[in-house]
Amino acid sequence: QYLLAIESSCDETAAAVIDDTLNVRSNIVASQDALHQRFGGVVPEIASRAHVERIMPVIDEALRQADVTLQQLSGIAVVTEPGLVGSLLVGLTAGKTLAWLLDVPLVAVNHIEAHLFACRMAAGRDIFPAVGLVVSGGHSNVYNCRSETDLELLGSTIDDAAGEAFDKVASLLGLPYPGGPSIQRAAENGDPQAFRFPRSFIRDDEIRFSFSGLKTAVLYEAQGIPGRNEQPPDLTPQRIADIAASFQEAVVDVLVAKVQLAVRKLGHRTVCLGGGVAANGRLRERLQQAADENGFELVIAPRELCTDNAAMAAIGWKLLQEGRTAPLDLDVTPGLVRAD
Ligand code: ATP
Ligand code: MG
Ligand code: FE
Repeated sequence: QYLLAIESSCDETAAAVIDDTLNVRSNIVASQDALHQRFGGVVPEIASRAHVERIMPVIDEALRQADVTLQQLSGIAVVTEPGLVGSLLVGLTAGKTLAWLLDVPLVAVNHIEAHLFACRMAAGRDIFPAVGLVVSGGHSNVYNCRSETDLELLGSTIDDAAGEAFDKVASLLGLPYPGGPSIQRAAENGDPQAFRFPRSFIRDDEIRFSFSGLKTAVLYEAQGIPGRNEQPPDLTPQRIADIAASFQEAVVDVLVAKVQLAVRKLGHRTVCLGGGVAANGRLRERLQQAADENGFELVIAPRELCTDNAAMAAIGWKLLQEGRTAPLDLDVTPGLVRAD
């Protein structure tokens, strides 16, 4: 049995075919990075238009690579939340049309929960209960994952998301979009102790994040403090590398601290990490160290399953099995997923 999964929540047009043993038969991702690069971020209207052009070719290619016909599909899973409204609507419309035409069930998938399910896919076995951390372009959320489909949101960011901070800091430093990979690359030649940037909430007992003060601290080092008559030092390649490395270390420090706090609070022995920032090498390394020292198991998907893709929407299989199908008048839910 085959499930077609569709993802178009932000600026990746993606489709995948997954069989009922969670084996990924195909996983196609058409990234729009090249379209948005000169704007330094995703332009919603450009994103929706690009999705319209790409969605059918991407679905066709996913079926072709999987060697599966439309008639062989048992269901359609589509990401309906959260994300950009115009982008989400393109995927949902494609999914509804196919479900209606083929007379198969439609399942609505939450993109953030799917980011964590990528870990379950990569592990190839049940990994829950677990602490789940999703760090992405729009979210920094910690979950109590009781099971694959029973996730309780414990805390999130009060301002910027971790990935958003990477993107904004990259832009301050004149590094190309998307910022995460650029910062990671620049940081390789930098000293993570060169600047002592703020680590908000790191010692408190609450599961919450704040990255906007960190971003402002970087701004001051990169461009000087507004209103002061001092010129900041030249933004040489070495200074850029040092700021990037120190910034990355500050983000990683708080993420590791809050994962450890959640492990202590919940008593789970497993931690899973999802979202685009989970592709970050330093974060992966530091969390693995914490896992080794504290005796929990860390499950992270390979990098291509951390950033946006449709294979992670295979969580739709679990929802189908639980009978949680969606009606054909289903709508999208664009708003951010936040605690409180
Ligand atoms: P959300 O998942 O919250 O809806 P999104 O889907 O736009 O947002 P993702 O595609 O999951 O976000 O992740 C993209 C983010 O990941 C970007 O902010 C990007 O800079 C960041 N990112 C990607 N690779 C890395 C990396 N190696 N290091 C740090 N950040 C990274
Ligand atoms: Mg993207
Ligand atoms: Fe995402």
